[in-house]
Amino acid sequence: MSRLRIILGDQLSLGISALTGLDSERDVVLMMEVMEENTYVAHHKQKIVLVLSAMRHFAETLRQAGIAVDYVTLDDPSNTGELTSEMTRAVARHRPDGVVVTEPGEWRVQEVVEGWAALTGLPVEVRTDERFYASRARFAAWAQGRRAWRMEHFYRDMRREHKVLMEGEKPAGGAWNYDGENRKPLPESTQPPARLRFPPDTTTQAVMAMVEQRFSDHFGGLEDFGWPVSREDAVRALSDFIDVGLPRFGDYQDAMRAGGPFLFHSLLAPALNLGLLSPREVCQAAERAWRSGAAPLNAVEGFVRQVLGWREYVRGVYWNLMPEYADRNALQATRRLPAFYWTGKTAMRCLREAVSDTARYAYSHHIQRLMVTGNFALLAGVAPREVERWYLAVYADAVEWVEMPNTLGMAVFADGGQMASKPYAASGAYIDRMSDFCSGCAYDVKQKTGQNACPFNYLYWAFLIRQKDHLSNNPRLAMPYRTIAGWTSERQGAIVAEAEAFLDGLE
Ligand code: FAD
Ligand code: SF4
Repeated sequence: MSRLRIILGDQLSLGISALTGLDSERDVVLMMEVMEENTYVAHHKQKIVLVLSAMRHFAETLRQAGIAVDYVTLDDPSNTGELTSEMTRAVARHRPDGVVVTEPGEWRVQEVVEGWAALTGLPVEVRTDERFYASRARFAAWAQGRRAWRMEHFYRDMRREHKVLMEGEKPAGGAWNYDGENRKPLPESTQPPARLRFPPDTTTQAVMAMVEQRFSDHFGGLEDFGWPVSREDAVRALSDFIDVGLPRFGDYQDAMRAGGPFLFHSLLAPALNLGLLSPREVCQAAERAWRSGAAPLNAVEGFVRQVLGWREYVRGVYWNLMPEYADRNALQATRRLPAFYWTGKTAMRCLREAVSDTARYAYSHHIQRLMVTGNFALLAGVAPREVERWYLAVYADAVEWVEMPNTLGMAVFADGGQMASKPYAASGAYIDRMSDFCSGCAYDVKQKTGQNACPFNYLYWAFLIRQKDHLSNNPRLAMPYRTIAGWTSERQGAIVAEAEAFLDGLE
């Protein structure tokens, strides 16, 4: 019995379930570069290069292992541009007895795959993606019957279940969470380490030329491309992070610095999301670093929390709530996304830095995403779907199952508190405390109103005033709402008017 084994662009792991039991005499692996996948949003050029180059490297690895690979390139003149039509063309070429695929990471692709059996008349076996700590079913079982799905509770269960950073039944070091020691501003004198980047090899260069030609109107530049595109490079990237980033990862997890896009972050999300690294191996590497004394517990726990906690948790939220989750808009936000998200042309330095890092590296770190671009979109009342499509387009690591809950749930509170117990709304004071952006900004972070005032300041208060009906009962916002209650309605109206005038000016 021969099978067509399908490997999608984010399934580049030798251990992927679609390859289990492969018969190298009879089976063929199908890999498809299709226009549909490269244009459902206008992805950053680096993201397209990363995915296609990593796919080509993976195909080569399979061939070297003696596996037959049918690889359809994007510039193949007979390429029809869609997963389904390419799959049916491959069925006609190979006449398999069945099709095997690992469950797709995204809802959109799952819907596509669901139509394949009826279309081909063949059995289509969709296998569980076993690369995660928690399967979709495991998360669903965890979530069932809980009123609130708090990441912290899920994370602790995962630590116990998978024996990560545990000492018997107790968390390593006696505490589950070392955030109290983490998240410091970066002292001026502290220099972030140089990071291992991967200059494009000939395969990547060929993809770059194709991308420059076919996707010239997409966002971002290719000059600074440095992502690992093979398993070997991804392993080197992990090792570099463990050596130079991890020891201070926790301390400066939330810090931001102009001209310092990477700081002590791992830069591993693209490799993880493509399958070049597994979450288990990165958590194990971090835990080993702690046990050998190479990294402190606050750093290692902070990192494990992101991978074993947040990453698995957002995947569970996504699969439990899709497809309705995509349309959530609890705060009824309707503004258009300001043009500067694409051009970087704004006098607000924090936003300018975040957008220019994004264009240059297809990267900005979590706090820039959450507390700068995300915070602005939240305070400005930008329509969640517009914000969400932007994040999905512009980052090398962007895949919908992780991007969407982070955007809708964390950044713009569109899910009304399913994930976060309060919106991540902040005035300029937070950005000033955690970065050096404000000192070189055209606006004055200390001024609350007026032409020179930092827009985050009046936008913050105007947001809370506008959203009083939705948010004033939230106990975690009691303090700012007490402040507002002490203001006259004229004062409140003036703040809202100033914010509206600023936002209208952006359009
Ligand atoms: P590090 O800071 O070094 O963190 C280590 C790893 O932990 C990351 O590689 C990632 O795998 C995981 N991680 C950290 N935070 C999160 C989180 N909140 N949710 C899930 N995993 C996390 N991450 C993506 O992988 N793809 C996305 O499309 C994406 N979109 C985001 C959109 C918004 C609005 C926000 C606020 C966050 C988003 N994140 C996304 C989460 C996070 O910002 C990135 O994972 C991280 O910045 C990637 O850089 P890094 O590898 O250096 O991460
Ligand atoms: Fe951003 Fe305001 Fe600081 Fe300027 S002053 S960098 S706008 S927070």
